[in-house]
Amino acid sequence: MTSIRRGTQGEIVAFKCRTCDEWHKGPIQSLGADTPDFVAHMSDEEREKYLTLTSDQCILTREHRTDYLVRGCLEIPVIDGPSPFTFGVWVSLSEENFNRTTELWEAPGRESEPAYFGWLCTRLPGYADTMNLKTWVQTQPVGQRPLVTVFEPTDHALFIEQRDGINVERLILIIEQAFH
Ligand SMILES: [Zn+2]
Repeated sequence: MTSIRRGTQGEIVAFKCRTCDEWHKGPIQSLGADTPDFVAHMSDEEREKYLTLTSDQCILTREHRTDYLVRGCLEIPVIDGPSPFTFGVWVSLSEENFNRTTELWEAPGRESEPAYFGWLCTRLPGYADTMNLKTWVQTQPVGQRPLVTVFEPTDHALFIEQRDGINVERLILIIEQAFH
């Protein structure tokens, strides 16, 4: 059993790590991803040449193909703790849906958009490779990032845990992997 300290709202403010035996401080409610994973593997020169990146959108232009990505939130219900836990992730959209999302960026009521198809482009700690899982990307009210829901493959742990939820013990395991 992991040792955890909770705050007044039941949030986890610190936990004792089984990997390094230190107390890691929280709050542990989300893990971000400032850029899509592939950005880390690009040289400054390549970024300059091929990449357009803001805090919420990314366009990667190459000779024969262009990728259009948006940043979203992938939530996982936590059964016995403050819920949900949120992963910041990037998903690749079709050019058409990317343009649509850009067009509606400041549009009131944009959350009534149908969900867009997206390829997950962020590797998540605590899971077997999550690259290119199939997701639905649901636009949220202005000012909020879209919600990302994995729908295939249905035997992937991320699909199952997003559907069924996880417990705090499992959440701490994920966080430990993220920290080390
Ligand atoms: Zn540790």
